[in-house]
Amino acid sequence: MASPNPPADTAFTAAVSAWYLDQRRDLPWRADDATPWGVLVSEFMLQQTQVDRVLPKWHEWMRAWPTPTDLAQAGAGEAIRAWGRLGYPRRAAWLHAAAQQICAEHDGQVPNRLSDLLALKGIGDYTARAVLVFAFHQRHPVVDTNVRRVIARAIGGHAEPGSPKPAADHAQTEAILPNDPESARIASYALMELGALICTARSAKCDVCPVQHMCAWVAAGSPAHSGPKPRRQARFEGSDRQARGRIMSRLRASEQSVAQEALLQDAPDRQQAERALASLVADGLAVRTRDGEYQLP
Ligand code: SF4
Repeated sequence: MASPNPPADTAFTAAVSAWYLDQRRDLPWRADDATPWGVLVSEFMLQQTQVDRVLPKWHEWMRAWPTPTDLAQAGAGEAIRAWGRLGYPRRAAWLHAAAQQICAEHDGQVPNRLSDLLALKGIGDYTARAVLVFAFHQRHPVVDTNVRRVIARAIGGHAEPGSPKPAADHAQTEAILPNDPESARIASYALMELGALICTARSAKCDVCPVQHMCAWVAAGSPAHSGPKPRRQARFEGSDRQARGRIMSRLRASEQSVAQEALLQDAPDRQQAERALASLVADGLAVRTRDGEYQLP
């Protein structure tokens, strides 16, 4: 991506990091005593869910299952029930499966190698690198949507980032990280925090931004986005996700298996509800009993 007015990379990162150290939110998975498991659980929860909704659920999970071994010994259904209304409950099933893998293959310790983390259920490139950086203080680029947006604006001079290009995104982020792993870890937190609180998708709060004076987008006169419109999240109302959520909520509320009719009653779209139930079974979030009823696994 061409840079109309590239900031001096270290000065830029240093300014964002200084702001972060002064303004950061007090989040338990960022604390010095956070365990690799605590960081991993937080990354699963934060994949699709906002921090304020994750916080109470993270505490609840860490009280119930403070180590991978504790979660591995629980049933998958227990994990899915405890996920509650956090959304995208496949994450709970994956986290449970990952805990079992960690116990079977890594002696109950979250691994600290990229290839080992990528082999765990539900862990993609972003989550693996985030765990290496935030839990093990290794130096890697951690690129989420917030980081991509900050770099696109502050360094690229564009209102919006283009479509993800993992290799280029990693290279561009790595280029502005300090060499020292601990400073790079703070810089990664800082870039994410700036994108979450100041340089947001909804608006860029440039007036209160700590790097406004070195921002390429501001220097270029804050040009409007000229590319394709960023994809908006699909409507929840009336969606398959909503239909799945309705069924999951009934399964979570019952300690017993539930008849199909009871699960699908009141469904505004019967066909959609049946499709949603079949997809939950296919995803391993619900199982059909011998009696033809349904329950959590
Ligand atoms: S000055 Fe504005 S556009 Fe630039 S990084 Fe800060 S908030 Fe984002």
